[in-house]
Amino acid sequence: MFAHYFYVCTISPGFVEDPPRQPGTGLLWAKKRQSARNRALTGIRWSDDIQIVKASVSRCRRCGIMRPERSHHCRICNRCVLKYDHHCPGINQCVGLYNERHFVLFLVWLSIATTCFTLSGWPRAMDALGWNGGLWTYYSPPVAFLLVYILSVVLSLAVTIMITWHLWGIASGETSVESQDHEHYRKVAQGRGETFINSFDLGKWKNLELFFNVGMDGYPLYTLLLPLKAEPYTDGRHWARRPGFEHHLGLREGEELTDEDDE
Ligand SMILES: [Zn+2]
Ligand SMILES: [Zn+2]
Repeated sequence: MFAHYFYVCTISPGFVEDPPRQPGTGLLWAKKRQSARNRALTGIRWSDDIQIVKASVSRCRRCGIMRPERSHHCRICNRCVLKYDHHCPGINQCVGLYNERHFVLFLVWLSIATTCFTLSGWPRAMDALGWNGGLWTYYSPPVAFLLVYILSVVLSLAVTIMITWHLWGIASGETSVESQDHEHYRKVAQGRGETFINSFDLGKWKNLELFFNVGMDGYPLYTLLLPLKAEPYTDGRHWARRPGFEHHLGLREGEELTDEDDE
């Protein structure tokens, strides 16, 4: 949990103007599946069942840089971020392509840890309140324990709701920004009697598999349980799309929301 918090704070989310990141090889890096390592890799991993296409580019209206689809301009960092999710004040930087895996895993572990503490600490909390008739025989004062316990209860509720919402977004193939945008597109398309289809949505499991990069071309599943760094499945300039889709269905040119609309 702490390792992921450290990573999410220290690994750059991936800015558009940065050179493509080279995967690391140190101890902290997860190892790819054998089959993926044996294959000749050319930047992007192409697999049989997933179609990965080059992203369209557009100019950012704020910093003027040419940037691939799914990047957004962060007003706080004042730069364009690859696969921008949101700017997180808690880590004082953006959550984007390269650190989103750690962001999500950190929240998952935090949610598990606080929930365990909340459940297992319940009898002690009763003792601290003196409701069980039990005696408080611990070194720390009951008030200190109660404060920590209340913090844990609040965190476990808040974080669990947050991470559930986030994982649902990932399973739907959307970032936080996109989930708002797509809501808008759905209404626009509906107004025309059309249906909006997110072309990045490959189905719930496939989306999760790509996000954590644990498919056949990525890392073994057990890497999710270890505090290791891992590459995303893409360089942020190519995206897996539904077969036959070049862009979202039900969205016409010029209807895409820009960063200004999002604010
Ligand atoms: Zn920009
Ligand atoms: Zn930012």
